[in-house]
Amino acid sequence: MELRIVIIGGVAGGMSAATRARRMNEHASIIVLEKSGYVSFANCGLPYFIGGQIQNEESLFLTTPERVAKRYRIDARVHHEVTRIDRQAHLVEGTNHKTGEKLVLHTTS
Ligand SMILES: Cc1cc2nc3c(=O)[nH]c(=O)nc-3n(C[C@H](O)[C@H](O)[C@H](O)COP(=O)(O)OP(=O)(O)OC[C@H]3O[C@@H](n4cnc5c(N)ncnc54)[C@H](O)[C@@H]3O)c2cc1C
Repeated sequence: MELRIVIIGGVAGGMSAATRARRMNEHASIIVLEKSGYVSFANCGLPYFIGGQIQNEESLFLTTPERVAKRYRIDARVHHEVTRIDRQAHLVEGTNHKTGEKLVLHTTS
């Protein structure tokens, strides 16, 4: 059975875990569920953006779901919020806020 890894939350921790998982297993299915609209951005740059030193908001974005799909074969889904995990059943539940649909994902043990 294909190994499926589901990571809750993108950004520094989540995307580091996802790319590390890819380095350790080139065949696994890796899915990142991120509730906001951004899978990876420079938190540390936010004060400079607020202060006006960084003016282009887009320069805070480090990568996009399209780029991680192409480069690492990671399925990063923004606007996907996880609301429940069942570790015994290897189940993750949540909502796709783009469509309003409920999300149910099984992971492998
Ligand atoms: C202003 C600022 C300046 C900083 N400067 C530095 C610095 O100079 N040097 C340094 O080392 N660190 C710095 N940091 C800290 C660094 O950015 C943090 O360590 C890092 O953001 C933590 O990353 P994280 O991925 O663990 O958490 P977060 O950045 O909080 O990411 C968690 C992600 O998970 C998502 N999420 C949460 N719950 C759910 C859910 N139920 N379902 C789906 N998605 C979910 C959130 O939307 C979020 O995108 C700074 C942080 C800030 C805010």
